[in-house]
Formats: sequence, structure tokens, C-alpha cells
Amino acid sequence: MTTESAVEPAGSPTARPAPGPARFAFGETFTDHMVTAAWAADRGWEQGALEKRGPLAMDPAMVGLHYGQVVFEGLKAYRQADGSVGVFRPVDHALRFQRSARRLAMPEMPVATFLRAVDDLVAADADLLPDDPALSLYLRPVLYASEPVLALRPAREYRFVLIAFLTGGFFADRPDPVSVWISRDRSRAAPGGTGDVKCAGNYAPGYLAQQQAALAGCHQVIWLDAAERRWVEEMGGMNIFFVRGTGPAARLVTPPRGGTILPGVTRDSVFGLAERHGLHTGEERLSVDAWREACRSGDLTEAFACGTAAGITPIGTVHDGDDRWSVGTGEPGPVTLALRTALTAAQQGRSPHFAPWIRRVAGTARAH
Ligand SMILES: *Cc1c(COP(=O)(O)O)cnc(C)c1O
Repeated sequence: MTTESAVEPAGSPTARPAPGPARFAFGETFTDHMVTAAWAADRGWEQGALEKRGPLAMDPAMVGLHYGQVVFEGLKAYRQADGSVGVFRPVDHALRFQRSARRLAMPEMPVATFLRAVDDLVAADADLLPDDPALSLYLRPVLYASEPVLALRPAREYRFVLIAFLTGGFFADRPDPVSVWISRDRSRAAPGGTGDVKCAGNYAPGYLAQQQAALAGCHQVIWLDAAERRWVEEMGGMNIFFVRGTGPAARLVTPPRGGTILPGVTRDSVFGLAERHGLHTGEERLSVDAWREACRSGDLTEAFACGTAAGITPIGTVHDGDDRWSVGTGEPGPVTLALRTALTAAQQGRSPHFAPWIRRVAGTARAH
């Protein structure tokens, strides 16, 4: 992939890249350092150690490789209006990292250890982040079972690694909308499964549907619920929102969590920003049929997906088998654009009301 694609990193390595700034391919331009920490049943957690980024030693029998006892996170650091570097909602990511670990019977990293690893890596590599507001530092913590044992039981040794890469942003005034393809025969998440946590095993099973979407000429796959196969759940590795109505009557809705939807930090941020804008918000299940009908009747005016990697991405057209329809005019709508601008401002420390979402990292200030 030579251009950055408007999708979450683990969602779709083979998708047609969405239009966007082509300066950095997503997840390829890594920084110089990493933070590592080990956990063992008898010793607990080590403090993380900052080192030069490089290959990891691993035993070929390590549990993570064979049985997928691996969880990860994705969060971003942005150059702030005052020249320092700030991380967006790291405590929320630390708490979700704990929840993911718990689901896979893994040890939970203390929030303070997670935050210190983030601070250390950002402070070490902040110089690589230019003043350009279109760029950010994507942070990727991963926790994997490192014990060499092939018995089917949770490992007794784990390793944490934090790496980072520089990434372009999506701050054009009028972002290009993506086309989506509804997967009718494959599922991302099932009731009682792991769809609501970020475990590594959730992502490769989506590649094939993503390839089908690309073959159909679409940027992204839409996931339906696994039980009835009619309720819209997510887009690729991003949460999805719909706008009903227009103007003061506009209402922003998203599918309820219910165990098969990943509780995105961006999803939660969008709710916060929308409420601040005086928008009506809510959780609502939407079926594919209702989506189509509401677009045709004009009741559903906008749709967008959101996640840390690509921010807010408008959805322009929907393909369902041979049927296709556009959302609104097919162009990004006013609610989508307003939320996108507001999210960017919050991430860059330009919204005093949302200042608590930013953790400033000491020693990262740059003279203007
Ligand atoms: C990570 C992820 C999201 C978005 O979560 P953010 O915290 O907003 O980045 C949405 N859906 C899936 C499946 C994800 O893995």
C-alpha cells in the first residue's frame, strides 16, 4: 500500500486505499525506540525499559504465537497548540488494555505502568513529530504470552512491548467519502466471543471479507451481527454512526455495544463532542433494510465511521450484493464535518473544554 488508507490498522491490509495524504503509509515508518516489560507469575510486572527499537527474542513454542494469547491497543500523540506533545485519552486506552487482557486470562498491566511506558517512548521520539498538524504519532502497545509451553492453558510469562510510528492525518476540509460493502456471509464477532476487546485474533479473520469488498470496488467492509445477519455493527475496524434528520432536528445514533461491538475511545469522544454541540444522540440498532429505506426516504442523511487511526471518515455509498445506494448526497454532510473539526481541535489541545482528554508529555516542547 503506498497511500495511507482511511481504516484502522488491523482492519484491511488489502483494501483499496481511501483517498488521503500520501506522505506516510500507515504502520510503516517506525520511530527509533521501544519500551518493553515482562510479567511472570512469581514476580508480577517489571517497570518498562526504554531501548532502541529492534527484533525480539522468542522461543518457537511461545503461547502467543500458537494459541493467540495476544492483545493490543492503538492510541495517538499530537503536537499541541503550545508546541508540546500530548497523548489523547491514554487512561481510557490503558483501561481497555486491561479489559482485553482480562478476557484472554492475561495479567492486567497497571495503568501507571502503561502511562509511564507511553511517556517514556513519546519523550524519546517526540523530535520525529514535526509541527505539521496533519501528522501524529501512533502508539501501539501489545501484550503477548511468551512462555514456551504448548499445553492448552494460560501462559505464566508475558511480555509487553510499546512501539510507535509516524502517520499522516485526515485533516482536509472536505474528506473524501468511502464506499462500503456489506458482508452477508462472514462475521467479525459473535455473542459471547471476543468482539468487544482488542485481541489479535479478531483481525486476520476479517481479511477475506475485506478482499471481497475490494473486489467489489469498495474501500471497506460492513459487519452485520452474527446471529440474525441484519443489524449493522461496525465498518472494518471502526465504529459506525448515522445521522437522522437535518438541522436542529438532527439526531446522531450508533449501534448499542452489547458485547459484539468494540467500545471505541473515538466513539465515546464523538458522543462527548456531539453533546457539547447540542446534538441529540442515542444508541439504536439499524438493520440493512432500514438503512436502505431511510436513505431513500431522506430520513437518514449522513453516515461515518470513527477510530483512532483515521479519525472520522464519511461513508458515501453502500453496496449490498447488486443493490447500491448513496447516503445523503454521497458527499460528507455538515454533522460529520463539524464533528471531525471538533475532534481534531480536541486532539490538538485547541478545545479548553476537552483539555482533560490530553496528557502532556514532559520534555516534548518545541520552540515555535
Ligand atoms: C480499535 C477498534 C475500533 C476503534 O476504537 P478507538 O478506540 O476509537 O480507536 C473500533 N472497532 C474495532 C473492531 C477496533 O478494533
